[in-house]
Amino acid sequence: MDDVTATRRDLSAQGWTEAYERSVMDTFGPPQRILVRGDGAYVWDAEGNRYLDLLAGIAVNALGHAHPTLTAAVSAQLGTLGHVSNFFGTPAQITLAERLLRLAQAPEGSRVFFTNSGTEANEAAFKMTRRTGRTRVLALEGGFHGRTVGALALTHKPAYREPFEPLPGGVEHLPFGDSAALEEAFSPASVAARGEVAAFVVEPIQGEAGVRELPAGYLALARRLTADAGALLVLDEVQTGVGRTGSWFAYQQPEVGGGIVPDAVTLAKGLGGGFPVGAVIAYGERAATLLGRGQHGTTFGGNPVAAAAALATLGVIERDGLLAHVRDVGETLRRAIEVAGNPLVADVRGRGLLLAVRLTRPVAAQVATEALAQGFIVNPVAPDAVRLAPPLVLTTDQALDAARFFAGVSVPGSTASSKEG
Ligand SMILES: *Cc1c(COP(=O)(O)O)cnc(C)c1O
Repeated sequence: MDDVTATRRDLSAQGWTEAYERSVMDTFGPPQRILVRGDGAYVWDAEGNRYLDLLAGIAVNALGHAHPTLTAAVSAQLGTLGHVSNFFGTPAQITLAERLLRLAQAPEGSRVFFTNSGTEANEAAFKMTRRTGRTRVLALEGGFHGRTVGALALTHKPAYREPFEPLPGGVEHLPFGDSAALEEAFSPASVAARGEVAAFVVEPIQGEAGVRELPAGYLALARRLTADAGALLVLDEVQTGVGRTGSWFAYQQPEVGGGIVPDAVTLAKGLGGGFPVGAVIAYGERAATLLGRGQHGTTFGGNPVAAAAALATLGVIERDGLLAHVRDVGETLRRAIEVAGNPLVADVRGRGLLLAVRLTRPVAAQVATEALAQGFIVNPVAPDAVRLAPPLVLTTDQALDAARFFAGVSVPGSTASSKEG
């Protein structure tokens, strides 16, 4: 059969990289490798080198690469009915909505809106906040919520925001994890000066900021303050959701959420196991009806292939007991890295399989480069932190392999010298 997709050109890695640089917009910088194939927790590059993928496409490939159940579900749906628009419903879309509501233990009247990405899920949530009749939205310093302009208004990082101002107004960024600052934002003086709060949008664990956990009790306080003020509590679980931290959603862990029920949860990354799909879960009648008929829309959102991918992903997580596995293997990985005692490693923070190896010096980029050279994909999420967000199917042996890398890694100027001399 002719290769009508024409992707099988036999270029060298160098040839592909040059073709990339001539054809793909330079928003990401040059690709670190050209990857051609994956299987489970491994990927292979164009030169045949194998890597243990400890990033999983940035916390996306929950089932690893080329999972047979996901492949079969996507293929079967595409071969049956691939797209219909939201003028129509499909069994896959409806079943996924029901399933998400069940996993969220969402009360009567709750509803789901489907998107294609995390930023779109947050965009929809942002539009929900405007429908409260208030425009003052709180978010946190260090928070990351996406790159479309609404989500970007919620995102804190000045380098991402400033080139695109003016952004939608009304968003205030509070100091991370500061309970007093949060209480102050809801105080009569603050409300008199800046208006009633429409919503607080927050990640249960900040991912892009370096896997930062909120202090115990913070989300419970946020729930109390928002509820008392008639404001929405929106949890951005785009990165932490779908089993990543060892529960369906991070806030469901008592130590994280303290038993709260949010008004909305946004999801994407892991939801489709690598297929682009996002969702907003709106809890209860009030949140679920903020966006009325015609007030929001999407051509692709809820697409049956994406829904089938999500159903397969959720189904395998459930069938294979991956939530418990994530807690176990995550703990194994964390402890194995910590006990190795590499002086370059301060500690490991995070939950489940969303971890950051904190370094004693700001050399995360060099560590990531060395990791790649040794066959491990990791992410220098901060100057002194290396993020690990491997597939949820990571095995204990693979976790120990990763730990061995961190036990031995040294970079120039490092005192960790197990490989030197
Ligand atoms: C990745 C991420 C987003 C943005 O998702 P995209 O699919 O890249 O648009 C939003 N919020 C959080 C917490 C994320 O980690």
